[in-house]
Amino acid sequence: MLESKIPSGPIEQQWDKCRFEMKLVNPANRRKHSVIVVGAGLAGAAAAATLGQQGYHVRCFSYHDTPRRAHSIAAQGGINAAKNYRNDGDSIFRLFYDTVKGGDFRAREANVYRLAQVSVNIIDQCVAQGVPFAREYGGLLDTRSFGGVQVQRTFYARGQTGQQLLLGAYQALEEQIAASTVTMHTRTEVLDIVVIEGRARGIVTRHLATGRIECHAADVIVFATGGYGNVFYLSTNAKASNATAIWRAHRRGALFGNPCFTQIHPTCIPKSSEHQSKLTLMSESLRNDGRVWVPKAKNDTRAANDIPENQRDYYLERRYPSFGNLVPRDVASRAAKEVCDEGRGVGPSGQGVYLDFADAISRLGLDNVKEKYGNLFDMYEEITGDNAYNVPMRIFPAVHYTMGGLWVDYHLMTTIPGLFAGGEANFSDHGANRLGASALMQGLADGYFVLPSTIPHYIASTSLEKVDTSHPAFSDAKAGVAQRLQTLLSIKGGRTPDSFHKELGNLMWENCGMARSEQSLRYALSKIPALRDEFWKNLRIVGSGEELNQSLEKANRISDFLELGELMCLDALHRAESCGGHFRLESQTSDGEARRDDENFAFVSAWEWAGLGRDPILHKEALTFDYVHLTQRSYK
Ligand SMILES: Cc1cc2nc3c(=O)[nH]c(=O)nc-3n(C[C@H](O)[C@H](O)[C@H](O)COP(=O)(O)OP(=O)(O)OC[C@H]3O[C@@H](n4cnc5c(N)ncnc54)[C@H](O)[C@@H]3O)c2cc1C
Repeated sequence: MLESKIPSGPIEQQWDKCRFEMKLVNPANRRKHSVIVVGAGLAGAAAAATLGQQGYHVRCFSYHDTPRRAHSIAAQGGINAAKNYRNDGDSIFRLFYDTVKGGDFRAREANVYRLAQVSVNIIDQCVAQGVPFAREYGGLLDTRSFGGVQVQRTFYARGQTGQQLLLGAYQALEEQIAASTVTMHTRTEVLDIVVIEGRARGIVTRHLATGRIECHAADVIVFATGGYGNVFYLSTNAKASNATAIWRAHRRGALFGNPCFTQIHPTCIPKSSEHQSKLTLMSESLRNDGRVWVPKAKNDTRAANDIPENQRDYYLERRYPSFGNLVPRDVASRAAKEVCDEGRGVGPSGQGVYLDFADAISRLGLDNVKEKYGNLFDMYEEITGDNAYNVPMRIFPAVHYTMGGLWVDYHLMTTIPGLFAGGEANFSDHGANRLGASALMQGLADGYFVLPSTIPHYIASTSLEKVDTSHPAFSDAKAGVAQRLQTLLSIKGGRTPDSFHKELGNLMWENCGMARSEQSLRYALSKIPALRDEFWKNLRIVGSGEELNQSLEKANRISDFLELGELMCLDALHRAESCGGHFRLESQTSDGEARRDDENFAFVSAWEWAGLGRDPILHKEALTFDYVHLTQRSYK
C-alpha cells in the first residue's frame, strides 16, 4: 500500500533522474486540465502561482479573506539554504545530513536530499521576486545560524521572513490571477473531498460569509493547508489554523503519517493566564546571541539582574558545549522542562527560563542588536511590558509545528491518487523534529519546484475521465457536509466550542506534550472519547449556518481535533521509543537524553481510518539510511 516511489540510483541524481523520466504535458494541452489548490500560504500560493504560470486552469481556495493572512505570514526567523555564501563548510550534503540527523532519523533520505538540493533555487527565486532579504554592508545576502547546525545558512528578513516570502509568493499569485490562469476563492473553507473511482476529483466548500455550500470538480487536488498544532488549544500557530481539510481527506482514505510528531518550540513567551487563547513565539534566531540560563539555586526569587554571574546556570552551554544555545528545538525544550521541574524555573509560575542579551549588547553594541532583532524585542515588550534590552526575556516551550501530516510519496501524492499535499500539511521531510528555518524552505520547495513537476506527470500518465459536479458523489458529499453542520447547530446544549477545545488541549498538553508515558497516553485515550461524546451531546452554537458564524466554524474544526487528538495519542503510545519531539519517559538514556530504538521503530507510521470508534490500521514505511548512518544523536 505504501509505495514511496523513491527513484533508483545515487541520491545526488535521484531528483534529476525523476524529473527527466516524468511525463510532460504539452503547453497547448495544459489549459484543458484543472487543478484545485487548497491553501494560499507559502506552499499553496507558490504551487498555485507556478501551476497557473505553466498554463493549467487553477482554482485556489482559502478560508482567509486574502492569501496574505495565511499563517505563513507569522514566520519570523529565516529560511535555510545550502548556498555556502559564508564559505563556512556548508554544502547540499551537509544540509541533508543536518536535517536527517536533526529529525532523529525518522525522515525519508531521498526527500530530504531533494529538499537540500532545491533550497539553493528557492533563494534565487525569492530574490528575483524582490524579497528583501537582509544584506551585509557590501550588499551581499546575509545569513545567520539556527539550531542543530554549525554553519550560518539561514537567510532572513529581520524577524519578518515569513511575511516577506509570503508577499513574494502572493505577488506571483496575483500576477496569475490577473492573467486569469488562477481564480482565487477567499473566505471559502473546504470541508470534504470527493473521491470518484478511487481518485480525488473535487471538493465541497462552505462560504464563511454566506454559509453557501458548493462543489468544485478538478483533475487534481492539492492540500497545502498548514499544520494542526492547535489541537493543543494553546500554540504559537495562527488561531484559525486547523486540521479539517487533511482530517476529512484521512476519513476518505488518505493515510496519516506520524501524527504524534509535534514540535515544542523552546523560546515562546510563557503562558500568563488561564484565559489566554494564544501563545507567542520569540524566534529561534534570538538564540544566535541570547544566552539561556536559570539560577543555580532552587526557588530563587531574586530579579534576574540581581543574580550574580557565578550563581547562574547556563545549562545549554554547560551540557552541550559544541552547540551551546543553538541545540535543536527538541533538546532545548526538554532541557528547559528539566530545570523547571527541578524548581529552578523563573517568573511567577516557575515555568520559564531566561534568554539574556546582556553579553550580546556589550559585544555587538545596542544598535546592532536592535538592527537584527528590533521587531522581536518590541513585540516582547508589547506583550510582557518588559524591556528585554535591560532585563532578560523569559521564555518557555510551547507547541509550534507538526511534523506529522498526510502521508505522501516522493511525488508528494497521498494514498488517494490525485490528492497531493504540500508544506506543513504533509509529513514528508522533517522526521521527528524539524530544524529551525526549514519549514519555509520545505513549503517553498514543495510549492515552487516539486509539485509543479510531479502534478503534470500525474496528469500526463493518467487517463482522467471527464467529471463534473453533477456526479452523484458530489451530491452525496455535499449532503454529508450539510448534515454535519446541521447536527452541530441543532445540539443546543450548554457548552461553548472553546470550552471543549480547551479541555482537549489540556489533555493533549499534559499527556501527549513535551513528555509522554504509556500511563499518560492511556489516560488521554480513556478521556478523549468521553469528551467527544459530550461534545456531540452538549455543544451550544448560537446563530445559524446561513451567515457568518465563527462558533460554527470553530465547532466544526474542533470536532475534527477531537478525532485527530485520539490518533495522536494512539500513535504516541504505539511508538515506545523516544525520538525528536516524541519523548517517551520509559525510553531515555542514563543522562536523560532521548533513547531511540532503531531496531523496532525505524519506520514512518501511516494510519488508515477504519471508522469512528474502530481501531485505525497501522501501516509502516520502513526507513533505510544509506547515506547518513544511524547513530545516537549527540550535540555535546
Ligand atoms: C510563530 C511562528 C513562526 C515561525 N517561524 C518560522 C521561521 O522563521 N522559519 C521557518 O522555516 N518556519 C517558521 N515557522 C513555521 C512556518 O511558518 C509554517 O510551517 C509554514 O508557514 C506553513 O506554511 P503552509 O503554506 O504549509 O501553511 P499556512 O501558511 O498555514 O497556510 C495554510 C493555508 O491553507 C488555508 N486553509 C487551511 N485549511 C483550509 C480549509 N479547510 N479550507 C480552505 N483553506 C484552508 C489557509 O487559509 C491558508 O491559506 C513558524 C511558525 C510559527 C507558528
